[in-house]
Amino acid sequence: MSFVAFFWISDLGFRRSIETTVDDASQTNLETIRRLLARSAGQNEGNLRKELRDLSELWANGALFEVADENGNWIYRSPRFTLSSPPVPVVRDSSISFFTTNLDWLQYRIALQKVQAAHKTYEIHAAVPTEPFDQALDHFRLIEQEALPLLVLLASVLGYWLSGWSLAPVKRIIETAESIGAQNLSRRLDVPRPRDELRRLSQTLNAMLERIETSFKKITQFTGDASHDLRTPVAVMRTTAEIALRRTRTALEYRDALSKILSTSIETSDLLENLLTLARADAGALGLDMHPVNLSSHVRKAQECAALLSADKNVDVTVETPSSPVWVVADPIAIDRLLLILLDNAVKYTPSGGRCEIALFQSDKQAQISVRDSGIGIAQRDIKNIFDRFYRADRVRSKKTGGAGLGLAIARWITDLHGGVIAVESTPGAGSTFRVSLPVAQNA
Ligand code: ADP
Repeated sequence: MSFVAFFWISDLGFRRSIETTVDDASQTNLETIRRLLARSAGQNEGNLRKELRDLSELWANGALFEVADENGNWIYRSPRFTLSSPPVPVVRDSSISFFTTNLDWLQYRIALQKVQAAHKTYEIHAAVPTEPFDQALDHFRLIEQEALPLLVLLASVLGYWLSGWSLAPVKRIIETAESIGAQNLSRRLDVPRPRDELRRLSQTLNAMLERIETSFKKITQFTGDASHDLRTPVAVMRTTAEIALRRTRTALEYRDALSKILSTSIETSDLLENLLTLARADAGALGLDMHPVNLSSHVRKAQECAALLSADKNVDVTVETPSSPVWVVADPIAIDRLLLILLDNAVKYTPSGGRCEIALFQSDKQAQISVRDSGIGIAQRDIKNIFDRFYRADRVRSKKTGGAGLGLAIARWITDLHGGVIAVESTPGAGSTFRVSLPVAQNA
């Protein structure tokens, strides 16, 4: 299509250029005759006619002319003009005009002008044959017709080769992307050297693969840890039951075995509950029921629960809330869970005789909750990991406290969902402070 357009434009340009050339040629001839008249018009008519004839014989390229005096009598006419007399437009002023006509079957472009010489007026008709130019145009069109199919063929071959060459990197990306699966998630696409869109595409896909791999590793880790943590209590329950049933036992022995199974099953169902919460959170299936909540009353309720939890341990749990309510938009059940996780940990990791304080205050547009304890504290190297799932700072020590390392992961998830931030400061041996800040309700 573009070749046809190209040839059409070339043809048009060529025709225009021929027209201009022909007009220029006839005008130049006319100018030569005008100069001859200016020089020789004073002589007698016989001499003038002879000079005009001589000039006519000099022109070998088929150019013709005729000159008439002011009465319309011909002073000189090239023979072909006398063979046929085409209708000539009337020349009114001294400007040059052009027209095209046939003289004895040959086409000519004729320039006309009235000129003044030796106080007389002459009319000059200078004709140039258009045939050589038409032949050139025909020749050009013939070349066009022959070249077009060849050029189309060449362009198709070149286009095919070029598209194959330019799509080769895309093909490589597709092949590599197709070969990446769960087994080789660490494989990456080759990044092409030129700084173009393909390079960006490969880098973006590699970054995406990186994120997928990280998530995949986390899921695998989570599943592994979860099954490990579930296997232990199930094994405990099974072994306890098997041993109890091996022979006949006293009522007290059965009671001991059953209460061990009961407490382990309670731990297991807590663990399952937490796992379920996190799995639903990951799937985005846990809808929160958000409405304005007065944090003060929730903090006080949490302190009462913590006081009950710490009753056996002799840990003092105190609360400090502002006199006016602190409103946040939140899910009350989730907020209770968050507070309980922090207080449960504070009590769990604080030895007998220690203290726990929960405080609430409002600063600027943030509600700040702090849970401070005088417990065992957290080593600096563990602080960055304690919000990760299944992370427990000291496995041997923590085993005694019975947690699975999911509490703080859930606490962080709840805080995130409420647009808040959770942070911790701790000194090993001296205690820890967990701080949660939540945005207060706009029209509180
Ligand atoms: P866990 O069920 O083990 O308590 P968490 O996710 O609640 O799981 O806590 C993760 C780890 O962070 C705990 O195992 C413990 O090592 C550490 N930790 C959490 N809270 C405290 C605290 N108040 N004092 C000391 N260590 C804590």
